[in-house]
Amino acid sequence: MVGRTGFNRGIWRDWRSWPARVAGLWRSSLQFRTVTITVALSGVAIMVVGVYVSVSVGNDLFQSRLNQVLVESNRATTAAQGIFDASDAADRVEVQTLVGSARTLITAASSSQLIAIFRAPGQDASTVAPQDSSSFGASTGVITSDLRVQVQENRGEQFWQSVTLATDDGGQVPGIVVGSQLTVPVAGHYELYIGYSLADAEATLGFVQRTLGIAGLVLVLLVGAVTWIVVRFVVTPIRVAAATSQRLASGDLGVRIPEKGEDVIATLARSFNGMADSLQSQIKELADLSEVQQRFVSDVSHELRTPLTTIRLAGDVLFDHRSTFPPAVERTAELLHAQVERFELLLSDLLEISKYDAGSVQLETEPTNLVHLAEDAIDGLRSLGDSKGTVLTLVAPGGHLDADVDPRRIRRIMHNLIGNAIEHGEGKPIIVSVDSNESAVALSVRDYGLGMSQAEIAHVFDRFWRADPSRKRTIGGTGLGLSISLEDAAVHGGWLQVWSHPGEGSCFRLTLPRTARGTLTSSPSPLPPADAAGGTGRSETGGHYA
Ligand code: ADP
Repeated sequence: MVGRTGFNRGIWRDWRSWPARVAGLWRSSLQFRTVTITVALSGVAIMVVGVYVSVSVGNDLFQSRLNQVLVESNRATTAAQGIFDASDAADRVEVQTLVGSARTLITAASSSQLIAIFRAPGQDASTVAPQDSSSFGASTGVITSDLRVQVQENRGEQFWQSVTLATDDGGQVPGIVVGSQLTVPVAGHYELYIGYSLADAEATLGFVQRTLGIAGLVLVLLVGAVTWIVVRFVVTPIRVAAATSQRLASGDLGVRIPEKGEDVIATLARSFNGMADSLQSQIKELADLSEVQQRFVSDVSHELRTPLTTIRLAGDVLFDHRSTFPPAVERTAELLHAQVERFELLLSDLLEISKYDAGSVQLETEPTNLVHLAEDAIDGLRSLGDSKGTVLTLVAPGGHLDADVDPRRIRRIMHNLIGNAIEHGEGKPIIVSVDSNESAVALSVRDYGLGMSQAEIAHVFDRFWRADPSRKRTIGGTGLGLSISLEDAAVHGGWLQVWSHPGEGSCFRLTLPRTARGTLTSSPSPLPPADAAGGTGRSETGGHYA
């Protein structure tokens, strides 16, 4: 036995997936769709034409054969009747001989072997009259009584009917039986039936039908092939245009479609390229503009630093001597000191964010223990917490707590998150937790203060955004803290996310990969926090993912 190849076996085993594959091809390939529709429609058209041609050829063949048959049978009948009319046969033997020779004549004139001669009923019995004879054999039954009645009642006329004749080999062929009357001397009236086979005509029709079928099939295949080639000519440039626009949409602004010729495809290519040119130049303009803006912010911040340092020094002198001033001036010196401090803070935040915008941030990573960083950050903010009556707790269950991070930036994030929690925590306890797994470390800062609404969460990482700018501030936030923290987290390949709900407090979670080039798939800390009312459903509505 010849074994089937693995490839074939695969195809046959996959037959269940065929409809889905064809449906997929139908949806995705314009070429396949066009070729299928064209082949189907031209197939139907060719079939209709084929059936029409076959039916009319069949009718024509039958009609011409019938005419020929009628002429031949008429000729045979007339010749036989001529013999009878000219004969003077009088006894049984003579009549018998006469009928025999008439039969031979009929066979010769009609070119048919199927001949039946029956004595017409309703005549007196005669001893001279020859017996009925038939060479129809198994097909004698095709001479129906209807035909016989018509022949018996209409002397001198021909009648015919379509029949099915049995062949010697047991098959069947279509045929025609023609009947007429003869008058035999002395013996009376006889019915003559001559059978003709239409096997030749049927064979011709079969040949015509086969030829039509093959020609139709070849035509459909040719139409399919031609359509495939034509559609390919049209679809290929469209496919190139689609691929190019996809690349353009994904940010590759330099791609263009080759422009060839003057036709509609060339027009499409030209207008597409024109569009891409203007898009590219506009984006370049915007990029230039944004670069100018970034440089402006950076330059202004740098320029402001020197005068600010001088102001700061002068302010410090005034602040140190405030007790010697009259009360109104003393208050002014304090105010000046506080605002200069705020100004410095804002300036350093601006410089930091302009570094991120310029893409010039360099990470200085080193193996760092996040628990130690968190302890330092909490210690640094403890006095602020005490002033608000806030208890700061660190929860660190242990594990792989070292991570390759830039400690300065992570410290800044922690300082910002814990500072915010104290600011907005309404004096309630704050829990800072550090947790880890093999691939990531996470720090969450949970407070039970004001919390934020869904709309506020959507903006919490925006630059200069504050939920309530008039809210009393202790550490004088700039509104840039969380946006810098977000950049700090992102530059580590980490996440900074928040869950919050008005009245229930907030939880900010920082997740960092433990290695410099690691990627995150999950975080060791839960968000929403485990103690969040309303369960985990809150994460979609209350969560913000950086
Ligand atoms: P800043 O704290 O300097 O105003 P941030 O970017 O750190 O700027 O925070 C932006 C705003 O987000 C804050 O003004 C505050 O309205 C809101 N926010 C931040 N953290 C919390 C928190 N833990 N609880 C409630 N609101 C918060």
